[in-house]
Amino acid sequence: MKVALVDLNNFSRYPTLSIGYFVAILRREGVEVEVCSPLNFGIHGYARTVRQSYWQRFSEFANYCMAVSTSGFINELRNRFKSWLRPGGGRDREVITQAVEDMLSKNFDVVMVSAYTMYRETCSDIAQLCVKRNIPVVLGGSGFYSYAMCEEWLEIPGVRALYSGEPEKNLLKLVSALATGEEISDIPGVVTRNNSFNPAQPLVELDSIPFPDFSDFPWENYPNRIVPVMTARGCEWGLCTFCSDVKTTSGRTYRSRTLDMVLSEIEKQQCHYSSDLFVFLDLKLNSNLALWRGLPEGIKKLPRPIRWTASVHVDSRDENGLSYTDLKRAAESGLVRITCGLESASRDVLRHMAKGVKLHRMSEFIKSAHKAGISVRITCMVGYPNETAEDVQETANFLRQHSQYIERVTLNRFANMPGTPIEEKLRKSRKDYPHILVKELDTLNGVFPYENRRMSRPSFLKAVYKLIAEVNSINRKPLLAKAFDFEGAF
Ligand code: SF4
Repeated sequence: MKVALVDLNNFSRYPTLSIGYFVAILRREGVEVEVCSPLNFGIHGYARTVRQSYWQRFSEFANYCMAVSTSGFINELRNRFKSWLRPGGGRDREVITQAVEDMLSKNFDVVMVSAYTMYRETCSDIAQLCVKRNIPVVLGGSGFYSYAMCEEWLEIPGVRALYSGEPEKNLLKLVSALATGEEISDIPGVVTRNNSFNPAQPLVELDSIPFPDFSDFPWENYPNRIVPVMTARGCEWGLCTFCSDVKTTSGRTYRSRTLDMVLSEIEKQQCHYSSDLFVFLDLKLNSNLALWRGLPEGIKKLPRPIRWTASVHVDSRDENGLSYTDLKRAAESGLVRITCGLESASRDVLRHMAKGVKLHRMSEFIKSAHKAGISVRITCMVGYPNETAEDVQETANFLRQHSQYIERVTLNRFANMPGTPIEEKLRKSRKDYPHILVKELDTLNGVFPYENRRMSRPSFLKAVYKLIAEVNSINRKPLLAKAFDFEGAF
């Protein structure tokens, strides 16, 4: 049996973890697998926050103004520009389709495509190619966690099914049934035009799946040899009202691997890919305190030292594992970069977000991480439904007060993701948000677009400009030398 895996998630800094798992599972069972990575053909994914120039504050602000404009003409102009620039837009579609067409000449039994929703047209082209060759094609990806999205994507001619949820447990059964023409609609997670929406249950025995196999990825095309690793799925907190990560494929419910398995995976991958750079993709690496605290000791015993990065949540547990002592130990084992979500420095907004963050602890964490010699990156959000101009100003002030301790800030506009608590609230309690108008689901971007009239008022615009200027001052710094290899990766 021969399976083609088309990876339209296409991170441009390191291989895609989920594809690595699929390859390992199928190869273990003797299935022949080939991976198509668009990076091989010059297609790049979205860039993460990298060092900015002074002038970027103006382009960022202009972009914000266009995004919140209520003018139909400006919206149309921006959408065209965006679709031209986004990965999968412009010439990317043609290049990827040609690459898949060339690949399919090698006679595959099954094609599986892992895609972000922005690749809809490309998926449609791939499905057409498969129809011509009579090869069944199944699409999967983190966007297929809601029925509304699946329903729309099943309209693509030639798509046999979608997959919703974590596929590892059912992967072999699915490809075998597809290859032999058997019925697939009773396989957990499979969504077809004829069955009900039933996402596969989260995988509990995470240690049962083999270590990911990244040997098919174009290592020579990445700026550095960075290996992704995950110790757990889900987030111990899991309550933030805007967070779609805990609704999508592997974010539902918290499950952890054992420390020994994680350490032996790092040791194996380090040797196999000749790499000493690791990115932990956990949503919240300090979810399981025993594992988080055990990692530094275990990493120090590896045959060669590594440098690593992680995301944490500065939660309000008495012990959240983020004291100066904890961070210092982690830094001594090679932790060079750490990310956490501040989102807002307004207590009121944080409370509405159910973020579980206390500002004095966030401040303490940022200073301790900096003192421990770790490059600090934080994420912020503007436009949360109850946010006022004063709230935005508070976030700008917080950044200014901590600018000497932070090296990168990623500033996002609030995205109204399907199925999140705030999306449901905006839909069901419209009278609480008279300044917000929610529109129809945008199936290309997997969001409910909205118009928030507050966000285009002069006082709000003024506060946003100040926030963008603070972010820009921080993002103009060079990264700490030891963290430099992770620029743009995290
Ligand atoms: S802490 Fe992070 S991953 Fe967890 S629910 Fe909040 S935003 Fe999502």
